[in-house]
Amino acid sequence: MQLSNRTKKIEPKPLNFWERMYLPVIFQGLNITIKHLFKKKATIRYPEVKRELSPVFRGLHILKRDAQGRERCTACGLCALACPAEAISMLSAERTKEEKHLYREEKYAAVYEVNMLRCIFCGLCEEACPKAAIYLQKDKFAPAFFGREEVIYGKDRLVESVTNRAKVGLDQ
Ligand code: SF4
Ligand code: SF4
Repeated sequence: MQLSNRTKKIEPKPLNFWERMYLPVIFQGLNITIKHLFKKKATIRYPEVKRELSPVFRGLHILKRDAQGRERCTACGLCALACPAEAISMLSAERTKEEKHLYREEKYAAVYEVNMLRCIFCGLCEEACPKAAIYLQKDKFAPAFFGREEVIYGKDRLVESVTNRAKVGLDQ
């Protein structure tokens, strides 16, 4: 059924002799392919080869620790407020006496999550943070993922590792 009478019936144009031969267009296509063989490739053999990143590149988030290895984040929520993509969510908790060696402030983020599907890596969370706790790393990408549940980055993947820091009893 026609919704309007603007339909235009187009009669196919008959092919001329050269078009019926198909060879000229095949050679034209081959010519383009061969020309690209000698051009600088736009692709690289990642991950063996890495691209040089811009000095202002913003990559994967990291929640930093202080010099004593304690988590800097105090769950103030300013990063979540600043985030234009509403990618950050958190739950705060009160630090106990026994946890003084784990968290720098009296309040800390018991849950801190970044939704990498929403994040646009603008860096506003980093700028908003009064505790110098969240940074966007200059050399790490958010890796590819195969399921939506993999894109929510929790503290297990965001908090800076303690490998090279003074042990602060985190294993206790
Ligand atoms: S980088 Fe930008 S979009 Fe991503 S979490 Fe931070 S503020 Fe939100
Ligand atoms: S990362 Fe910074 S801005 Fe965000 S909740 Fe923690 S202390 Fe506040």
